[in-house]
Amino acid sequence: MMAWAGVSADGVRIEGDTVSRFSSSPTVERTFCGRCGTSLSIQDRDYPEQLYVAIAALEDAGSCAPEFHIWRSERLPWLDEAGDLPRYLKFKRDGLLE
Ligand SMILES: [Zn+2]
Repeated sequence: MMAWAGVSADGVRIEGDTVSRFSSSPTVERTFCGRCGTSLSIQDRDYPEQLYVAIAALEDAGSCAPEFHIWRSERLPWLDEAGDLPRYLKFKRDGLLE
């Protein structure tokens, strides 16, 4: 599951020495960091005016909050209950930090 920000493709370029491109379907191209594998963007050639940017890849990821869920028809059966699971601040080698 990922959070994406839909933005106007005008004026946005995904570039850099490590950006790799991958066609995940006949009309969809994804970019990701070729060094660490982080997803960066999705663009559908049928909707070239829209670009979806991975919120987690933004320098200020907290500035862009999700507004809705999509592809619920494909969700994993436990997803709706996952919001009630215990929450921890960090993962440490010797356990979870509360
Ligand atoms: Zn990277």
